[in-house]
Amino acid sequence: MIPFVDLKAQYRAIAAEIDAAIASVIADTAFIGGKYRDHFEASFAEYCHARHCVGVGNGTDALFLVLKVAGIGRGDEVIVPANSFIATAEPVTLAGARVVFADIDPETYNLDVADVETKLTPKTRAVIAVHLYGQPASLTALAELCRRSGALLIQDCAQAHGATLAGKPLIDYGGALCYSFYPGKNLGAYGDAGAIVTGDDELARACRMIANHGRCAKYDHELEGVNSRLDGLQAAILSVKLRHLEAWTKRRRAIAALYDRLLEDVAEVTTPRVAAGARHVYHLYVIRTRERDALGRHLEERGVRTGIHYPVALPNLKAYRYLEHRPEDFPVASRNQDEVLSLPMYAELTDDMAVQVASEIRSFFGRAS
Ligand SMILES: *Cc1c(COP(=O)(O)O)cnc(C)c1O
Repeated sequence: MIPFVDLKAQYRAIAAEIDAAIASVIADTAFIGGKYRDHFEASFAEYCHARHCVGVGNGTDALFLVLKVAGIGRGDEVIVPANSFIATAEPVTLAGARVVFADIDPETYNLDVADVETKLTPKTRAVIAVHLYGQPASLTALAELCRRSGALLIQDCAQAHGATLAGKPLIDYGGALCYSFYPGKNLGAYGDAGAIVTGDDELARACRMIANHGRCAKYDHELEGVNSRLDGLQAAILSVKLRHLEAWTKRRRAIAALYDRLLEDVAEVTTPRVAAGARHVYHLYVIRTRERDALGRHLEERGVRTGIHYPVALPNLKAYRYLEHRPEDFPVASRNQDEVLSLPMYAELTDDMAVQVASEIRSFFGRAS
């Protein structure tokens, strides 16, 4: 059996370090705030080449807090890609603003900049660029578009820890970066966790305050906030894992290169297209084929677990019925929902396992291994 992800294998490889980190937090009873959180925030800010990292409860909250602090709410519009996890869009509605979907690029599956341009209105206050599957979106064009229209660029980096574009860290393209450390992400906690990364002192200060009950000092509340904090145990676990992240990312990229090579001549399968200059970190390795459902069943029967990201494009979800979109309004995202298939991808996947996955795909399409 080849699992889709294998968090147990990852834990086994670093168990001694993780167990020691957990024991330290408990011995110090540093559960909320404290030195383990401070240490992780400083380390992750450095990893992102950014001035600030504000640890929060999860990636969805990171997006919500940035929207809140930017004063985005009733009467405002925020542009969101039609292909993402619902957590990219939910915080917009929660903040009181209106979700406006833009279609995705047929090659990279990230925001289609031309479609974003047609969706801009005087009410547009932000664009959320998702670096889907681990590949940076068209940040140069999107940052320019945001600069011209006065919209805030929010980068949803939940799938893109360690991604770069044109050799530069994502922070260099500006705006606020929102990370998720959900357990299955490239850098995953042992529970929920997230972070806001930014070079803006005031944005960082305000996010930290709102995430902690609007508190500036104990029992001194500037305003009503929320409770969304990175806890000490998650921070200590994340600090251990951050030391391994580059090695894991290199391994993900090596597996992707192997899949690329082994599937190159299978005409029925489209392997991931990487934009010039993009460092894709392969949170997911997503292929596309007209025979997605049959191929998925074939792999399942042979013990290869796969995933679909995502089976319903956001505008086609029941949750967004009220927007009255038709699938034809988002032709690329609607095509992808029926054709994408995510193959097993994690640092502990061996070359032999990747070869086996590719062989099963080849045999399904009648190709020799
Ligand atoms: C995982 C994910 C989120 C949400 O993160 P949580 O930590 O689960 O709240 C947001 N956006 C994208 C693209 C994600 O993959």
